[in-house]
Amino acid sequence: MPHRVVVVGGGFGGLNAVRALRRARDVRVTLIDRHNYHLFQPLLYQVATAALSPANIASPLRHVLRRQRNVDVVLGNVVDLDPVARTVQLEDRTLVPYDSLVLAAGTVNNYFGHDAEWSAVAPGLKSVEEAVAIRQRLLLAFERAECEEDPVVRKAWLTFVIVGAGPTGVEMSGAIAEIARDVLRREYRHFDPASARILLVEGLERVLPTYDEESSFHARKQLERLGVEIITGRLLSEVAPDHVIVDGGEKEPTRIECRNVIWGAGVKGHPLANVVAERYQAELDRMRRVVVDESCAVPGYPNVFVIGDLACYRDEQWSTELPLPGVAQVALQQGRYVGREIRKRLEVESRGRVYTPPTFRYKDHGSMAVIGRGRAVAEVGSVHFYGFAAWVAWLFVHVLWLVGFGNRVVVLFQWASSYLTLNRSARIITGEPDLSLTPVRSRHDKLAPGDPHANPDVNHSLLGEDAAEELAPPPPTKPVEAADATESERRVETREPAAASSHSGDVPS
Ligand SMILES: Cc1cc2nc3c(=O)[nH]c(=O)nc-3n(C[C@H](O)[C@H](O)[C@H](O)COP(=O)(O)OP(=O)(O)OC[C@H]3O[C@@H](n4cnc5c(N)ncnc54)[C@H](O)[C@@H]3O)c2cc1C
Repeated sequence: MPHRVVVVGGGFGGLNAVRALRRARDVRVTLIDRHNYHLFQPLLYQVATAALSPANIASPLRHVLRRQRNVDVVLGNVVDLDPVARTVQLEDRTLVPYDSLVLAAGTVNNYFGHDAEWSAVAPGLKSVEEAVAIRQRLLLAFERAECEEDPVVRKAWLTFVIVGAGPTGVEMSGAIAEIARDVLRREYRHFDPASARILLVEGLERVLPTYDEESSFHARKQLERLGVEIITGRLLSEVAPDHVIVDGGEKEPTRIECRNVIWGAGVKGHPLANVVAERYQAELDRMRRVVVDESCAVPGYPNVFVIGDLACYRDEQWSTELPLPGVAQVALQQGRYVGREIRKRLEVESRGRVYTPPTFRYKDHGSMAVIGRGRAVAEVGSVHFYGFAAWVAWLFVHVLWLVGFGNRVVVLFQWASSYLTLNRSARIITGEPDLSLTPVRSRHDKLAPGDPHANPDVNHSLLGEDAAEELAPPPPTKPVEAADATESERRVETREPAAASSHSGDVPS
């Protein structure tokens, strides 16, 4: 019987482990992922800011692996593991047996103990669904601002708070600033999109805290030039649908009225890490990642590997203090290493010899963060550069990394087009936007329930049965007289549905 390798997760780690096994003899690989695609997460923010469509940054796993005959791709959600029976259990109770297991399920957003309250209000950027939800909210905010007459409420719609000034936060805030300043220019009649306020809030003392101080300084300068307001050294103590409270140090807490909060402040290990801890008595670090040994295996289980963002790996040659960072290069190199080592072990053991794997060593090829059109910072070894040159390097590397030739061509074309025209091609509000969010004090007159001007003869059935149901008049509520409503009454009217509608169900559990 062939050696059965089960790989959980078709991200950078899992996919590269599978590919490294393509020439392995007498091996059968099963790749299990809860999505049918490999997602290129570093470009998720481009989906969230309408520069690219989801299909541009995702490739179907079956297509990617179509030429690798020793792989089966299974669409399934792994929920449990059994070290004794050596099986992986899927949500639908299917059991998949393994001889070697590679776990590469990545991370989930970390709201530091506020997951339940904050995740619905402040979506993170970990999945296609979240990126599309953020794009939806972003575009809807400008639509709301266009209809809103009350300058205070309009300002709240036009205030965007991005939490966390790591690469994701920096990229998001730079892109939103560009949308407001350049992309939407001249498109609205009742306000200037450039008046949008973009705030980037970071708990540590500087932006891009994992980069060196000079890169951090340049990133800050470039963001400020785009009009982004940067608040460092302060944390959020409250995140609500219509405001956030920025706490901090000796300063007074600041309340900021806003309708759009984007979470980029941190991640933690996928809940599968808890299963590994429980079933294999593995240790988790404080980010709930599985602590692995020098061959990326769970201590005591040389055939069970945890790689990529889900793993906490200490490479003393890289840093004596920190485990390896959660970046694509680490996942990719660990995936290749583990695939190669499984193959070598089988070859050596088939000759009746004992195999001792070499220690995994990470090769740091550098870091880059893009800030906007023609703006980026890059650190490659001891060479650090900023601005246009860094941006070109960023483009080049990201296009090369993308999985699928077709995606590379399309993305290059989209980037060239938006660079030249300042437009963003994916500015479509998809799904059914909840238009009940339209502010009460709209510049357009609205019919109150029972208004004598309402046309009693509107024939909803002309729009089809579904529409007739949807458009049926709501049950009578206490009418709010727009002119007399207090500010807080108006807020309640506009804010309650905001949290419920635009994001419920978007954050994966
Ligand atoms: C917005 C953003 C920007 C980033 N930018 C950069 C960057 O510029 N440079 C860089 O180097 N890194 C960047 N990263 C980090 C990089 O994307 C990750 O380090 C990398 O994706 C980790 O790879 P992985 O294989 O460990 O996990 P992932 O790529 O997250 O893949 C995990 C896979 O596991 C699957 N999965 C999860 N749970 C289950 C389950 N229970 N059952 C089955 N399948 C499951 C998922 O569907 C997914 O396909 C960024 C990340 C984000 C979110």
